Amino acid sequence: LTIGVPRETMPGERRVALTPEAAKKLVARGFSVLVEREAGLAAGFTDEEYEAAGARLAPDAATVYGSASLVLKVQRPSEHEVEMLRPGTAIIAFLQPLIRPELVARLAERKVTAISMDTIPRITRAQPMDALSSMSTVAGYKAVLLAANELPKFFPLMMTAAGTIRPAKVLVLGAGVAGLQAIATARRLGAVVEAFDTRPVVKEQVESLGAKFLELEIKTEEVGGYATELAEEHLRLEQELIHNHCVEADVVITTALVPGRRAPVLIREETVREMRPRAVIVDLAAEMGGNCELTEPGETVVRYGVTIMGPLNLPSEMAYTASQMYARNVTTLVEHLAPRGELVFDFEDEITRGVVLTRDGEILHEPTLARLK
Ligand code: NAD
Repeated sequence: LTIGVPRETMPGERRVALTPEAAKKLVARGFSVLVEREAGLAAGFTDEEYEAAGARLAPDAATVYGSASLVLKVQRPSEHEVEMLRPGTAIIAFLQPLIRPELVARLAERKVTAISMDTIPRITRAQPMDALSSMSTVAGYKAVLLAANELPKFFPLMMTAAGTIRPAKVLVLGAGVAGLQAIATARRLGAVVEAFDTRPVVKEQVESLGAKFLELEIKTEEVGGYATELAEEHLRLEQELIHNHCVEADVVITTALVPGRRAPVLIREETVREMRPRAVIVDLAAEMGGNCELTEPGETVVRYGVTIMGPLNLPSEMAYTASQMYARNVTTLVEHLAPRGELVFDFEDEITRGVVLTRDGEILHEPTLARLK
């Protein structure tokens, strides 16, 4: 099986799907690896390193697509790249099937086997392939550095000859993979950290990182008992809690996502208006519409004196480590799907069922089919 690695073409994308280290592993397994010239350069990997790892270099993308039976990418293929994919070949990338079901349909039409890195089932066995978690780890870390850089204050407590400087207050909304990494990073920089998530089970993890978990105090007897009323009351209390803690914070990092849906709006304009004028919000949900009402995806804006950043691709800004993590995840998946050197799909296997979206011109992935209806 020839594995092809083209250079990423999406504007601003610096990552590469395979590092020399990962290429070496695949070559040792008997795969032939073909890498487009300078594919890894923006991430910090040279052509010489790929060659030393046993990969061959291709002069251009057309050569890669022309010879590979499995293409490894980070970003979904562009229209032109879809055209270059030959029928009967396969591609692994972040295909975002729930957001872009038409792309999946197009790949099926072209008889390309579409394998998605964003539908790896969240089971223990699949953790080494979970690239979404890897990228969330990178984004959570980087978000805090962006905020620290923007904030006109120190993060840590400082005892100086000029007096004691109080530590910055950081609020993290959403304590999934990205949120927990943001908490850990903010703590390492010495900030006082609070976090909120709708899943109370994360309380222990938040506290083990040295942050305070904010809890809703719901008095059910005041609510009446109907499910919708409870939900509405819950939402109102959640918004009140977030508002009260945002107005006290120096930095707010938001990471709340609901898979395949618009991100929930957690910070309203009236909250931003009452926040400290030098505060910073980093909205990691910008791509899915943002957790802050005033976020402009891809932009940094200042509203009521508050800096609101809506970065769209933080993993690309840490391309070296992000590529290393992605390459390890993707290599583990390749080894899983091609244990004897060729792709063989065992649809009894939960991981295979989760990731293989199309096969022989058909869309197999039920959630994608549902989106297309
Ligand atoms: P995510 O990126 O989809 O969402 C981020 C967080 O936002 C979640 O914790 C979610 O509960 C929270 N959120 C959603 N709506 C919210 C709201 N209105 N207010 C506040 N918070 C809100 O999630 P993720 O980081 O990809 O993963 C979520 C969980 O899944 C993690 O706790 C993780 O432990 C688990 N997970 C398990 C595996 C595995 O077992 N293989 C792999 C990855 C993640």
